[in-house]
Amino acid sequence: AATDALLAVQGLEAWYGESHILHGVTLDVRRGEVVTLLGRNGAGKTTTLRAIMGLVGRRSGSIRFDGRETINDRSDRIARAGIGYCPEERGIFATLSVTENLMLPPVVQPGGLDLATIYTLFPNLKERANSQGTKLSGGEQQMLAIARILRTGAKLLLLDEPSEGLAPVIVQQIGRTIRELKARGFTVLLVEQNFRFAQTVADRHYVMEHGRVVDMVPNDQLTASLDRLHAYLGV
Ligand code: ATP
Repeated sequence: AATDALLAVQGLEAWYGESHILHGVTLDVRRGEVVTLLGRNGAGKTTTLRAIMGLVGRRSGSIRFDGRETINDRSDRIARAGIGYCPEERGIFATLSVTENLMLPPVVQPGGLDLATIYTLFPNLKERANSQGTKLSGGEQQMLAIARILRTGAKLLLLDEPSEGLAPVIVQQIGRTIRELKARGFTVLLVEQNFRFAQTVADRHYVMEHGRVVDMVPNDQLTASLDRLHAYLGV
């Protein structure tokens, strides 16, 4: 793995109960990079994020974050080390307001953004500060889920399909947000099915199939690689 990798995953295996899901995933994400995991349903993308976060039943291999091995750490320790996970279902507290959601992050530590900074980054959340979670649009919920991770002080953001189920104009907004986070020095690993969206935000793409990484494509070669990727992605 590159020495400047913030996250270096090597030979990662993961199980849910008796089901062996990941079969030696190897990838790395450098500081300040935005990297996607592409691949068909069931390829193991979500499981890879969950395994990095310590949220699978059993895992082995190596996951170095910021130079330190985390493969035996519990998820709360991994969160405190500076990794934030935004699941596909987003995990917003439905009965709490936007501000209340932002005041209840799972972990808070130095480097976490204060509310004022969050609301500068997400002006539409500021407008909805007193709205309940259930009253938010899908796009606002996604923004809130990302904002909540930023409160924790995470340096690496793991985002599971942030564009999913959102209207094209909202997807563009999420794209701008991710580019803004990159500009501010955050590092992002995201699962995506939306190829075009992936292309507008990422520096590199890993392609997964059957619980393995089968290809890596720099973003500027993505279009030229489409024929090769067709088999894995069905695009
Ligand atoms: P998707 O976009 O559908 O989530 P994915 O690439 O993220 O696809 P995963 O969700 O990681 O794929 O799933 C990989 C495999 O693990 C699938 O075969 C799935 O059925 C299985 N799997 C996922 N979660 C569990 C679980 N909690 N228990 C048992 N098997 C699971």
